[in-house]
Amino acid sequence: MKLIVTFSRKAGKKPIIAQVVRETGVLINVERAQIDSSEGEALIDIPDETCSVVKERLSELGASVRVLEDVISLDENRCVDCGACISICPQEVFSFDENWKLVVNGERCVLCGRCIEICPQRALSQKGEG
Ligand code: SF4
Ligand code: SF4
Repeated sequence: MKLIVTFSRKAGKKPIIAQVVRETGVLINVERAQIDSSEGEALIDIPDETCSVVKERLSELGASVRVLEDVISLDENRCVDCGACISICPQEVFSFDENWKLVVNGERCVLCGRCIEICPQRALSQKGEG
């Protein structure tokens, strides 16, 4: 399961993700992170069954947490199976099936946004829910 974690750095620069790993024993895979002097945002991947404990502890530490599901959405009415997204995606989210129809394996997505930008049909978008 993927979570977007946003945290302020104004209160201090404690590594809250490392703290949650230590306290909960859950192995957190940080797939993407952007941190500046005032705020940080990280995309993390954790086992589904640990979601509530990790989410709760991160919230207690002052982070805002958003669960991401169906991260990349494909509009099949727009897609023309050109394959451009297959070429650009660093995570191999896209592939063709035996009929050369596009298949999306969204669990691997790290939300880099490259496929959304490159799709000539505007068939791809980002979904998220909290
Ligand atoms: S780039 Fe767009 S139109 Fe081309 S296969 Fe991917 S989703 Fe379909
Ligand atoms: S957002 Fe990035 S990682 Fe996710 S499917 Fe698109 S190209 Fe792949």
